[in-house]
Amino acid sequence: MSQPTQAVIFDLDGVLTDTAELHYQSWQWLMDEMGIPFDRQRNEALRGLSRTESLETILGDKSSEFTAEQKAEIARRKNDDYLSRAMKMTPADLLPGAGELLNELRRRGILIAVASSSRNAEAVLDRLQIRPLLDVLVDGNDVPNSKPNPRVFLEAAERLGVPPARCVVVEDAASGVAAARAAGMRVVGIGPAERVGRAHRIKPAIADLPADELLELPEA
Ligand SMILES: [Mg+2]
Repeated sequence: MSQPTQAVIFDLDGVLTDTAELHYQSWQWLMDEMGIPFDRQRNEALRGLSRTESLETILGDKSSEFTAEQKAEIARRKNDDYLSRAMKMTPADLLPGAGELLNELRRRGILIAVASSSRNAEAVLDRLQIRPLLDVLVDGNDVPNSKPNPRVFLEAAERLGVPPARCVVVEDAASGVAAARAAGMRVVGIGPAERVGRAHRIKPAIADLPADELLELPEA
């Protein structure tokens, strides 16, 4: 028997909004300029990774050709470009159904957190104008260990004052699903089974996730 759900913890990128597309556009622009092969398929491998981990993944064998300073500069340029794209976001950039689900959960007295590895989460939430709907935000500035380390979810639960067993996570990355499970939480995976197959339930998009089903999610 699962315990009643008291809180829902959302990942941000790829769950509430598609910043994944903006990250892709920034990496593609920069890698084109540097003459390093990159495309949408390679971008898929970056889902859930931090900026530094993403750069290492993109560079692959070429990583050793760059100094740590050069890599830091590449990461900085990528982030500047991403931020200039992200600052143009509006509430229209919430994924379909996301705003409705957040409002419905609040109406039912469910606590809501966003737990993201991103260090830009607060700026994005402000642009989407959903910060007032959240009880807690934990991002990459608060917790240095990125998913699959469970720390970001455990920190969110602690700040909410809710035991992990009474939290449900909504995630779109394999690393995020693993982090939620490691935190002892139930997790809904958004996306294809090849990516989020370890989740307790899988949905193609957040629009396909009714509040009832989310709150009554049993253990696997
Ligand atoms: Mg994500």
